[in-house]
Amino acid sequence: VNNLKSKVNFKRLKDTIDKSAEIGNIPVNGLKRLALSDEDKLMRDIFQVWMEEAGLEVRIDDFGNMYGKRPGKTDKPPVLVGSHLDTQPSGGRFDGILGVLTALEVVRTLNDNDIETMRPIEIVNFTNEEGARFEPPMMASGGLAGVFDREFIYSRKDRDGKKFGDELKRIGYQGKSENRIQDIYAFLELHIEQGPVLENENISIGAVEGIQGTNWLEITVTGESDHAGPTPMNLRKDALTAASQMIGIIEERASGKGVMATVGRLSLSPNVTNCIPGQVVFSLDIRHFDDYLRKEVLNEITEAIQRIADDREITVRIEDLWDSKTTIFNPKIVNLIEERAKELGYNVKKMPSGAGHDSKHMNELAPTAMIFVPSANGKSHDVSELTLDEDIENGANVLYEVVYQLANNEGDLV
Ligand SMILES: [Zn+2]
Repeated sequence: VNNLKSKVNFKRLKDTIDKSAEIGNIPVNGLKRLALSDEDKLMRDIFQVWMEEAGLEVRIDDFGNMYGKRPGKTDKPPVLVGSHLDTQPSGGRFDGILGVLTALEVVRTLNDNDIETMRPIEIVNFTNEEGARFEPPMMASGGLAGVFDREFIYSRKDRDGKKFGDELKRIGYQGKSENRIQDIYAFLELHIEQGPVLENENISIGAVEGIQGTNWLEITVTGESDHAGPTPMNLRKDALTAASQMIGIIEERASGKGVMATVGRLSLSPNVTNCIPGQVVFSLDIRHFDDYLRKEVLNEITEAIQRIADDREITVRIEDLWDSKTTIFNPKIVNLIEERAKELGYNVKKMPSGAGHDSKHMNELAPTAMIFVPSANGKSHDVSELTLDEDIENGANVLYEVVYQLANNEGDLV
């Protein structure tokens, strides 16, 4: 297909982002728009109007996912593009919001230029990506992919005991299951990077190749609690000194192999100044794009932890809490993103995503890829979240080009 001569209307896009940033606004420049809250409802109502004004056929499915369809010249499977409008309790104004509003801008720009596409284009706002109010995250895209069933999703409760299903009905966004998107040609999601890599390397566009796999473990180290005064050093079974040696080994092994490893949670008992710690429980989060390498480092670490425990004659229990494989996105779409970005004269880099996204589940349903735009200082899930105008504009133009190409593509992507 020929290249497009038109570009997105950045002023209009920016204006739309600013309007979204007024709904659930918290100081300074932050957003609190939890899933299925009154603020979420208000944003949805406005988004629905925007979609209708752009001539889209709007429908809502039983998870509350909102779709707007722009017909194509044929009824072939559509290109789906979007992300989520909900935020963290102290979130920013960009996150997934950019992915939904740039998708809307793509449709508006096609309309401005009277451009028809062979395939329909559908834009989407997924319900409860953040999981901040109702756990787990990426809930409604997971529902579409069959990872969670509807009973499970509807029964999730927030901290006040309110159920997802009741809140979805309350805000008026419980649609029908037949409205779920069925047959998708390709899914595209633009999102902020949420890390510092693009900014540090002065790159405007990330062509995201996948989402790195993750393991969560819980390690319980049990020694013997005793008085801090009368117990000689050589007769102690101190669970904390053992744990600190273990954490040192974790850092050493992981950084040696370029794997991310984080001990983010630790508790000890009795946790008293003049008592030798008898038990320590800590978490371990390990991530890497290469499943094989991640497993290998994980095995090395667990063996080293066991050895430390044996040497100190204390016990250790290592529990697997979560094992999530790496998601590999569709290479043809990733290459198309890279190629279009270069053609537009932007710096682009192929990269993995460190965080989870709706695209993880959508990748099970359709050929999928993501476009990242830089996060200033790598910040996200915080009111200080910022993506510069130029990067937003560049990202939107890449999205516009890639959607246009895919929506005119005849061939299979897999
Ligand atoms: Zn997000």
